[in-house]
Amino acid sequence: MTASPGTDPRARLPSLDRLMDDPELAHIVEQWGRRTVLDEARQLLASLRRQIDPGSEAPGPGEIIAALTQRLQSTPGRGPRPVWNLTGTVIHTNLGRAPLPISAIAAMAAAAGSSDVELDLDSGMRGERDHHVERLICDLTGAEAATVVNNNAAAVLLVLNTFAQGKQVPVSRGELVEIGGSFRMPDIMRRAGSILVEVGTTNRTHRADFEEAITDHTGMLFKVHPSNYAIAGFHQEVTIPTLAEIAHAHGLPLAWDLGSGSLVDLSRFGLAREPMPSDALAAGADLVTFSGDKLLGGPQAGIIVGRRTAIDAVRRNPLKRALRVDKLTLAALGAVLRLYGDDARLLQELPVLRLISRPAQDIRAQAERLAGPISDLLGKNWEVTSVALASQIGSGALPVANLDSAGLAISSRRERGRGAEVEDLQRRLRRLPKPVIGRIAQNRLLLDLRCLDDETALLADLQSLGAA
Ligand SMILES: *Cc1c(COP(=O)(O)O)cnc(C)c1O
Repeated sequence: MTASPGTDPRARLPSLDRLMDDPELAHIVEQWGRRTVLDEARQLLASLRRQIDPGSEAPGPGEIIAALTQRLQSTPGRGPRPVWNLTGTVIHTNLGRAPLPISAIAAMAAAAGSSDVELDLDSGMRGERDHHVERLICDLTGAEAATVVNNNAAAVLLVLNTFAQGKQVPVSRGELVEIGGSFRMPDIMRRAGSILVEVGTTNRTHRADFEEAITDHTGMLFKVHPSNYAIAGFHQEVTIPTLAEIAHAHGLPLAWDLGSGSLVDLSRFGLAREPMPSDALAAGADLVTFSGDKLLGGPQAGIIVGRRTAIDAVRRNPLKRALRVDKLTLAALGAVLRLYGDDARLLQELPVLRLISRPAQDIRAQAERLAGPISDLLGKNWEVTSVALASQIGSGALPVANLDSAGLAISSRRERGRGAEVEDLQRRLRRLPKPVIGRIAQNRLLLDLRCLDDETALLADLQSLGAA
């Protein structure tokens, strides 16, 4: 038996075309793209048709659009969206690492159309991509030459593949690190075609360990800065000057993977000194690799600096073509490197250094200003207090250094189920139009304010939390 169109609620569901034409859908289409919204809308209408009981009411257009929005909410594919990083980790890999300075963002926009990426405007001939940043990198590190690839993992891969494909590479057991996100030194070496020769022990490696490991099949010596972990106590590593002596006595190149590779001495901010690329080169490394988006504060990139002949060899490797950077990266990197010429501007304008060096009393004052308004916003079920916190640099830079910071601790006043309440609040914050990312510790949601630059905008964004 079939119901007449007037009585069957399924017949009152809008057609896919009509639903897609609803002006209320425009902003959803803007966010996810027409293709994805169409697909989800088709599935939603089909499931409504199956579920609706013939005796009941059909959902109205408002409800259908709300249901569609809900479905899409948990669908990835909206592209990277801006978030409030209140995690306390300044260079957070999951949050896009270094926030770029305004000058770099402008440089990317300017280069986004047609630009002279590989055109020498002087001669009209084909140019070299690296030339846009090579001079700057060399001036800042004292290197003879430099090249840039997609990220530091690519830089390491390329260096190993260039000098040690099918050859042995002795590396200290204490430096066979995992960086996170599946970057493990032994795996990268295998993919580069190099044969890893482990030398020494986890905590102690000596000069003789390297000397004994060198054979006719050795391609290069390689040192890794363990960046994201610290060894304390009974520990011995072979330093770069010693490794350089051994390598050069055998006619081998020496590379040092620095990881973060800061271009400023962090002891200026009361932090431990991270080895700098200039130190590494001065100490005798032929090649040094480091990331563009860690302490340097720029876009994702891997920078290789070193001797001219070594860099030329790296450039000739066909893999370089597969790992090259695009015009946007070059534009952003150039703009960031130009800030390094001017110390006062650097600390003002480079977010990574500004945030790392932000005084704790500044952050404390901000936490005290925000505690009241945020408490009012959340209502009487929540207790909001300003607390002292410890931020981290993140991304493997100075893993044991804590930066004195401050923020808000938010806890539920309920007798029971506080853990679940706090997790629910965290989820609601993640679902805001500009998600707020904090962390939970001991049933409290902690919002570290070190990276909060615009508190008025944060408060405005939080208004919709009450509405949700
Ligand atoms: C971070 C890091 C890498 C990987 O660099 P990416 O830029 O993330 O690819 C490699 N080696 C060390 C020592 C690192 O700290």
